Amino acid sequence: MSVLIYIELENGSIKKTSLETIAYGAKVAEKNGGKAIVLAIGNADASELEKAGRYGAAKVLHATDQRLEHENSMAYADILVQAVQQEESKVVILPKSGLGDAMAARAAARLKAAVVSGVTQLPETDGVFTVTRSVFSGKAFATTQIHSEIKILVVKKNVIEVDENAVATGNAEIVPFSPAFRGEDFKATVIQVEKTNTELSLTEADIIVSGGRGMKGPENWQPLVDFAHALGAATGCSKPVSDLDWRPHHEHIGQTGIKVAPNLYIACGISGAIQHLAGVNGSKCIVVINKDPEAPFFKAADYGIVGDIFEILPRLTEAAKKL
Ligand code: FAD
Repeated sequence: MSVLIYIELENGSIKKTSLETIAYGAKVAEKNGGKAIVLAIGNADASELEKAGRYGAAKVLHATDQRLEHENSMAYADILVQAVQQEESKVVILPKSGLGDAMAARAAARLKAAVVSGVTQLPETDGVFTVTRSVFSGKAFATTQIHSEIKILVVKKNVIEVDENAVATGNAEIVPFSPAFRGEDFKATVIQVEKTNTELSLTEADIIVSGGRGMKGPENWQPLVDFAHALGAATGCSKPVSDLDWRPHHEHIGQTGIKVAPNLYIACGISGAIQHLAGVNGSKCIVVINKDPEAPFFKAADYGIVGDIFEILPRLTEAAKKL
C-alpha cells in the first residue's frame, strides 16, 4: 500500500506546512507497511526535493512544465489522479489550503474516492479507516469512517510534530513525472502572480503578533510591528481593525478572515470574541495581552499579561532583541 502526498512549493522551496504533510503521510504509510511517495508540481531543485526523505518519503515524483508554473487546481488535480493511478496508492494526503481542498475535491470525483478535509489527527487504520476532523470553525470534532477503496485526507497544520531528524531515512529518490495534459484544464491560465507585500505569510508563520481595537488607531501600530520584527513574526489583526482600514485586509484573522495555526500567537488588545477565536484555535500556544482581566481571550490563553499594551510592547521588544 503506498500513500501519495501532494506538497506545495513556493519559490522553489517546499512550504513548511507541506513538510508536515509529508511527515503525516509517512506515519500513515509506516503504520500500514507501505511507502510514502511525494508528488511535487512546479519548479524546484533536486536538492530541495530530496529533503522530503528526511521527513519519511521514499520517493518524490516531480512534474515540471512551463504550463505548471502557476497554480492550476484543475491541471494539478489531473496530475494527482495520474500519480495515484501509477503508484496504486490507497491513501492520498494534501495540506489544508485553498489549493489542497480544490485538488482533493476534483481528484475525489475522478477516483471515486471519499474525501475528508480538516483532518486533525492520524487516522485509525485497524478495522474501519477512521479520521477526526475539525468542524464548526474548530469548536467541535467529527469522527468519520471512510469506506471507499481510495481515501483522500486534507490535513490541517500543526497536526503532528515535525522533526526532520526523527525519521532520517536520508534523501528521497527524485523521479521525473511526465503526466498527460488535458487541453480543457488550461482554458484559463494564470500568466503572472505579483505579491502585494513581502511580509511573512500568515498561514506559514511560526509566530504571529496580532493587534485589535485596543491598539486605538493605525498610528499606534509601530510598537507591534517592531515587536513582530524582533521575533521574526508575521503581523495579524482582528476584523474591526481591517474594516476600519487600520491594517490591510490580508491581515484579518478569524472566522471570516484567515485561519492560522502558528506555534505562538500573541494577541495584543484583542477581546477574544468567538469569531476571532475561530481563526486562531489551531495555535500551539496563545499569549494574550489585555488591560481588562475579564477579557474573554484569557480563557483561551496559555499565558496572559494583564496590562497596558503600550507599556508592555516596548519592553517585550527590548527583551526579544536580546534573545
Ligand atoms: P474589541 O472587542 O473592541 O476589543 C478591544 C480589546 O482591547 C478589549 O478587550 C480591551 O480591553 C482591550 N484594550 C483596550 N485598550 C487596551 C490597552 N491600552 N492595552 C491592552 N488592552 C487594551 N472578528 C474577528 O476578529 N475576526 C473575524 O473573522 C470576525 N468575523 C465576524 C463574523 C461575524 C458574522 C460577526 C458578527 C463578527 C465577526 N467578528 C470577527 C467581530 C467580533 O465579533 C468582534 O467584534 C471583534 O473580534 C472584536 O475585535 P477586537 O477584539 O479588536 O475589539
